[in-house]
Amino acid sequence: MPKRVLVVEDNDVNFALVEFVLGKLDVAVARAATGAQALDLAERDRPDLIYMDVHLPDVTGLELTRQLRLRPYMQGVPIVALTALAMAGDRERALDAGCTEYMSKPLSPRLLQETTARLLDLKAAAKP
Ligand code: MN
Repeated sequence: MPKRVLVVEDNDVNFALVEFVLGKLDVAVARAATGAQALDLAERDRPDLIYMDVHLPDVTGLELTRQLRLRPYMQGVPIVALTALAMAGDRERALDAGCTEYMSKPLSPRLLQETTARLLDLKAAAKP
Protein backbone atom coordinates (compact mmCIF):
# COMPACT_ATOMS: atom_id res chain seq x y z
CA MET A 1 0.00 0.00 0.00
CA PRO A 2 1.46 3.39 -0.95
CA LYS A 3 1.77 5.99 1.78
CA ARG A 4 -0.99 8.59 1.78
CA VAL A 5 -0.26 12.29 1.38
CA LEU A 6 -2.95 14.89 2.02
CA VAL A 7 -2.34 18.18 0.24
CA VAL A 8 -4.36 21.03 1.74
CA GLU A 9 -4.24 23.72 -0.95
CA ASP A 10 -6.96 25.96 -2.36
CA ASN A 11 -4.98 27.15 -5.39
CA ASP A 12 -5.31 24.89 -8.45
CA VAL A 13 -1.94 25.81 -9.94
CA ASN A 14 -0.08 25.22 -6.67
CA PHE A 15 -1.85 21.93 -6.17
CA ALA A 16 -1.03 20.82 -9.74
CA LEU A 17 2.67 21.38 -9.07
CA VAL A 18 2.63 19.40 -5.84
CA GLU A 19 0.60 16.62 -7.45
CA PHE A 20 3.02 16.44 -10.38
CA VAL A 21 6.07 16.23 -8.14
CA LEU A 22 4.53 13.70 -5.76
CA GLY A 23 3.39 11.70 -8.80
CA LYS A 24 7.02 10.71 -9.28
CA LEU A 25 6.99 8.96 -5.91
CA ASP A 26 5.10 5.87 -4.80
CA VAL A 27 2.47 7.76 -2.81
CA ALA A 28 -1.29 8.26 -3.00
CA VAL A 29 -2.24 11.95 -3.14
CA ALA A 30 -5.52 13.40 -1.87
CA ARG A 31 -6.49 17.06 -2.03
CA ALA A 32 -8.47 19.26 0.31
CA ALA A 33 -9.23 22.78 -0.89
CA THR A 34 -10.74 24.01 2.38
CA GLY A 35 -10.21 23.47 6.08
CA ALA A 36 -13.52 21.66 6.38
CA GLN A 37 -12.53 19.22 3.62
CA ALA A 38 -9.16 18.69 5.27
CA LEU A 39 -10.75 17.77 8.61
CA ASP A 40 -13.04 15.26 6.84
CA LEU A 41 -10.29 13.76 4.68
CA ALA A 42 -7.88 13.41 7.59
CA GLU A 43 -10.53 11.47 9.48
CA ARG A 44 -11.36 9.23 6.51
CA ASP A 45 -7.94 8.70 4.91
CA ARG A 46 -5.61 8.87 7.93
CA PRO A 47 -2.80 10.43 5.90
CA ASP A 48 0.86 9.63 6.58
CA LEU A 49 1.96 13.17 5.65
CA ILE A 50 0.20 16.50 5.19
CA TYR A 51 1.25 19.51 3.14
CA MET A 52 -0.58 22.50 4.57
CA ASP A 53 -1.11 25.76 2.70
CA VAL A 54 -1.21 28.52 5.28
CA HIS A 55 -3.83 30.60 3.41
CA LEU A 56 -7.16 28.82 2.96
CA PRO A 57 -10.63 30.22 2.30
CA ASP A 58 -12.24 29.23 5.60
CA VAL A 59 -9.44 28.95 8.14
CA THR A 60 -5.69 29.54 8.31
CA GLY A 61 -3.51 26.52 7.81
CA LEU A 62 -1.99 27.13 11.21
CA GLU A 63 -5.35 27.08 13.00
CA LEU A 64 -6.24 23.97 11.02
CA THR A 65 -3.00 22.36 12.13
CA ARG A 66 -3.88 23.11 15.76
CA GLN A 67 -7.26 21.45 15.28
CA LEU A 68 -5.75 18.38 13.61
CA ARG A 69 -3.15 17.99 16.35
CA LEU A 70 -5.95 17.56 18.89
CA ARG A 71 -6.78 14.22 17.28
CA PRO A 72 -4.85 11.30 18.77
CA TYR A 73 -4.16 9.68 15.37
CA MET A 74 -2.63 12.95 14.12
CA GLN A 75 0.01 13.21 16.83
CA GLY A 76 2.87 11.63 14.91
CA VAL A 77 1.89 12.68 11.40
CA PRO A 78 4.29 15.19 9.81
CA ILE A 79 2.63 18.44 8.73
CA VAL A 80 4.64 20.69 6.43
CA ALA A 81 3.46 24.30 6.25
CA LEU A 82 3.53 25.90 2.80
CA THR A 83 3.50 29.67 2.74
CA ALA A 84 3.98 32.44 0.24
CA LEU A 85 5.01 34.77 3.02
CA ALA A 86 8.63 34.64 4.01
CA MET A 87 8.47 36.99 6.93
CA ALA A 88 10.42 36.96 10.16
CA GLY A 89 8.66 34.77 12.68
CA ASP A 90 6.73 32.69 10.12
CA ARG A 91 8.71 29.56 10.82
CA GLU A 92 8.29 29.92 14.57
CA ARG A 93 4.54 30.52 14.22
CA ALA A 94 4.21 27.41 12.05
CA LEU A 95 6.19 25.26 14.47
CA ASP A 96 4.26 26.67 17.45
CA ALA A 97 1.01 25.69 15.73
CA GLY A 98 2.21 22.09 15.49
CA CYS A 99 3.75 21.99 12.03
CA THR A 100 6.76 19.72 11.67
CA GLU A 101 8.49 21.77 9.00
CA TYR A 102 8.06 24.91 6.97
CA MET A 103 8.51 25.44 3.24
CA SER A 104 8.14 28.74 1.43
CA LYS A 105 6.72 29.28 -2.04
CA PRO A 106 7.63 29.21 -4.83
CA LEU A 107 8.09 25.54 -4.07
CA SER A 108 11.22 23.77 -5.20
CA PRO A 109 10.23 20.47 -6.86
CA ARG A 110 13.48 18.88 -5.74
CA LEU A 111 13.02 19.96 -2.11
CA LEU A 112 9.41 18.81 -2.17
CA GLN A 113 10.42 15.40 -3.47
CA GLU A 114 13.31 15.01 -1.05
CA THR A 115 11.24 16.14 1.92
CA THR A 116 8.43 13.74 1.05
CA ALA A 117 10.83 10.81 0.65
CA ARG A 118 12.55 11.65 3.92
CA LEU A 119 9.42 12.15 6.02
CA LEU A 120 7.77 9.01 4.66
CA ASP A 121 10.99 7.00 4.78
CA LEU A 122 10.55 5.98 1.14
CA LYS A 123 13.25 3.60 -0.01
CA ALA A 124 12.49 3.48 -3.70
CA ALA A 125 14.05 6.05 -5.97
CA ALA A 126 11.83 8.52 -7.74
CA LYS A 127 10.54 7.64 -11.16
CA PRO A 128 12.16 9.69 -13.94
MN1 MN B 1 -3.99 29.37 -0.47
